[in-house]
Amino acid sequence: MKDTLETGWTADLVWIGAKFESGVALLTDASGRVTGFSRNPNDLASATRFPNRAILPGLVNVHSHSFQRAIRARTEHRTSATTDTFWTWREAMYRAANLLSPEDVYHVARMAFLEMLLSGITTVGEFHYLHNEPDGTRYQDPNLLPMQVIRAAENVGLRIALLRAAYARAGWKKPENRGQARFITPNAETFISDTEALRSAVSKLSAAGGAWIGVAPHSIRSLPLEYLLRAAEYARAEDLPLHMHAAEQPEEVEQCLEEHGLRPIELLDKHGVLDERFTAIHAIHVNGDEIASLGRGKVHVCACPTSERNLGDGVVPADRLMNSGPRICFGSDSNIQINLFEDARELEYHLRMQKLQRAVLATESEETRLAERLFQSATLRGAEALGVPVGEFEPGKAADFFAVDLDDPSIAGSEPKSLLSNLVFSLERTAIRDVFVGGRQIVEEGRHPRQVEIVNEFKNVQRRLWGQL
Ligand SMILES: [Zn+2]
Repeated sequence: MKDTLETGWTADLVWIGAKFESGVALLTDASGRVTGFSRNPNDLASATRFPNRAILPGLVNVHSHSFQRAIRARTEHRTSATTDTFWTWREAMYRAANLLSPEDVYHVARMAFLEMLLSGITTVGEFHYLHNEPDGTRYQDPNLLPMQVIRAAENVGLRIALLRAAYARAGWKKPENRGQARFITPNAETFISDTEALRSAVSKLSAAGGAWIGVAPHSIRSLPLEYLLRAAEYARAEDLPLHMHAAEQPEEVEQCLEEHGLRPIELLDKHGVLDERFTAIHAIHVNGDEIASLGRGKVHVCACPTSERNLGDGVVPADRLMNSGPRICFGSDSNIQINLFEDARELEYHLRMQKLQRAVLATESEETRLAERLFQSATLRGAEALGVPVGEFEPGKAADFFAVDLDDPSIAGSEPKSLLSNLVFSLERTAIRDVFVGGRQIVEEGRHPRQVEIVNEFKNVQRRLWGQL
């Protein structure tokens, strides 16, 4: 190797830029960053080899609410004689959220993060809005709960952007909802000082670069406009990622029209919120003008198709968005499933069902182009949205990667040229065998060293939680 501190990693195939290559080693340094590639036979001979595998950059899950892992599959039934919707699901989610102790928040987050790592995710954007005690009392340390989530990520070895959410009200002219007391930070000053305190606490953590902070005004309905704009201005002044739920449900659009006389994206555009730091989570119920303004702002849109179909949110107009400029990334959101490849294929499949067409998001006829576009959304586009140098094997970026077993029945028989399509359209999690974060092996042969303990602690939480509900 060029430098004795460099380590080499090789496999039958390595994803380099836009194709798989053989006979090449990925080189990393002692700080866990990529330094380059080598085709030198000596380097290949001394590299750690993954036989019968392909290695690719780790996936970036831009939008998660880890605590919602606790209600997975517990709401798949009618809750009343009327229609079940996102809004009835939300009440069930609030009930569960209010029963979680700080310890429970840690154990549930570890469970979600374990599953992310096992599915090839190496970075998560955790949109965190549990701040208070269930009755709304502030904890002595207002960052007790976000720190539990950050510690959980550190414990399992996942890179985390903690997107600290601002939430102040049930909605315009809506009566207080006691189920939301845990989320409330009453004003922008308190939100900013709490977030500053969290930034300071995170900077003292041992794993430098493993955790950082972003700003997340929860949604237009949850904040008075002035508060929302203060939070956005703070993110800009401090150069932090800015994430916000937007246009997930038609009712949210109606409420925004009623309060502001504008649709959500129109309102954000008018006040200069749409720029490269901004990520709109969902952006489903958007019209042509709003799509154009998202494009002008060069924003990211985080689609969460597995969660959105579970909640009955609607279909992200990914074709129109991609044609207008916003860059699409993915999130597991409610964590009903944790599989970013599933999100990638559903983004395309939902459009196929809607339009009765195939290959809707393809731009060129070559067979890997569509898969490449979706894979970029699952990696590089997500890295941009979270402001972190990961998502591709480029010198200086973190050595976060995973290895897939080329004989796994879900992808066996593919050629280097078609492999990425196999991964995007058919890979099952059993194919993901080894996962590295910052050059450190976290998952080996499909297992995490703390897996049994994490699962058992989670089962204990579930028993207590669902015994009470
Ligand atoms: Zn969400």
